[in-house]
Amino acid sequence: MTEDELKQFKAALSITAVAADLGVPLVRGRCRCFFPQRHSHNDRTPSVSFSEERGTFRCWVCDDVRGDVISLVQIVKNCSFVEALNWLKETYHFLLPGNNRATNRPEARVASNSGRPVPNPPAQGNAVASRVAVRDAERDAALEYHSPEPVKELVSEDERKKIILSFLKMLSPVDKTPAAAYLARRRIYKPIWDKMLLRTITDYGALNNKLKETYDLEVLKYVGLFSEKGNLRYYKHPLFFPYLDAKRRSFYFQARAIDSTVVPKELNLRGTVPYPYNVSALDQRPGWVYLCEGVVDTLTFLGQGIAAIGIPGVRSFKTEWLPLFKNKSVVLCLDKDEAGRSGTEYLQSVFAQSGIRTVVLGEGLESLNSSMKEGDDINSWFGGKK
Ligand SMILES: [Zn+2]
Repeated sequence: MTEDELKQFKAALSITAVAADLGVPLVRGRCRCFFPQRHSHNDRTPSVSFSEERGTFRCWVCDDVRGDVISLVQIVKNCSFVEALNWLKETYHFLLPGNNRATNRPEARVASNSGRPVPNPPAQGNAVASRVAVRDAERDAALEYHSPEPVKELVSEDERKKIILSFLKMLSPVDKTPAAAYLARRRIYKPIWDKMLLRTITDYGALNNKLKETYDLEVLKYVGLFSEKGNLRYYKHPLFFPYLDAKRRSFYFQARAIDSTVVPKELNLRGTVPYPYNVSALDQRPGWVYLCEGVVDTLTFLGQGIAAIGIPGVRSFKTEWLPLFKNKSVVLCLDKDEAGRSGTEYLQSVFAQSGIRTVVLGEGLESLNSSMKEGDDINSWFGGKK
C-alpha cells in the first residue's frame, strides 16, 4: 500500500463506524476513556470525543489517548501499528483503494500498481506504537472496558431533540445582520435564507444567559451546545444552518464563522450527522441531485434553482443514507483539489456498488472556459467571493 493509498483508505473509513465495530459504545460522539482508572469516578461522564469529519478522537484528560482511526484500533486492541492496519484492511477490504477499480476503471488499476510499494509501515508507525504502548495494569483495564456497561444518558433522545429545537428557535433570522452580508457576497439571497430557515446570533451574551437560565449546565454540555468551560460554543460561529427534515424540523445544525480568520470555519453539532443537508431534495422521484461538500456550496446551487444536497465532509457520508438516493442520479460537486478528488473517487465507488449513477461536475468539459479550474470550488465557479 502506497502512502497515497493509505491516506485514501483512512479517508474512506468512518471512525465512529470503526469504533462501533470494535465494540466501543459511543453516545453523542463520546465514550468513556479506555483508561478509566486515570479518571475520577472511572470516567462516568465520558471524556473521549470523536470527530467524524476529521477522523480523529481524543481524551480530554489523558494526553496519550488521541489520534486517528489506526491509533484507535491500536489502543482498543492493544496492538502495533502494522497489526492495527492489517485488521482494518481485513475488516474493511471493500474500502481498499483499487478494490473497485478493476472492473470500472482498468487504467486506474495500472496507475496504482505502478506506485511505489511500501513493504514496511511508514516511519511514524513506531512512534505511534510506542506512544500508545500501555502498561499491563492499564491493558487489563482496557480489556475490562469491554464488559458492556452502557454510558448513562443524561437526557433521553427525545429530550435532546427538544432542546436543540428550542435552541434553534431562540436564534434570529439573518436579515440585516452581518450574516446576511456574508451570504449575499456568496450570491445567497433572502429567498434561500427563508426557505432554509438560516439563523444567526445577534446577542451572544444574552443568549448564553438565557440558555443557562432555561437548562441545567450539565445538560447543555451533554447535548453539545456548551463547552467544557460552561459557555455557548458558538462565540465565533454566529451563522446557523439547520438540517431541515421533510417536515421542516431540525435536530441537527452546522454553525459557520463569518470572519475568514476563524479556524475552523465550521462547527458541527456533536454526534452523528442524521442525513445530508437539504435531505428533502431526495424525494424518491426520478431525477438528478447535485451533491456538494459543505452547506455554503449547497446553498449556492439552491439559489440557482438546482436540486442540491450537502455533506459536511467526505468522511461524514454514511452508507446507510444510500436508500435515500432511490431513483436519483448524482452529480458529484466536490472541490477540484486533492481531497476533493479522493473524495469523489470514494463516493463514485460507494454509489456504483448500490447501482446509483454518478457523474462528476464539469468532467469532459475541461477545455471550455467555463469549466472549473484546479483549486476552484463551487462558489468561486458561480462567481461568489471566498
Ligand atoms: Zn482518559
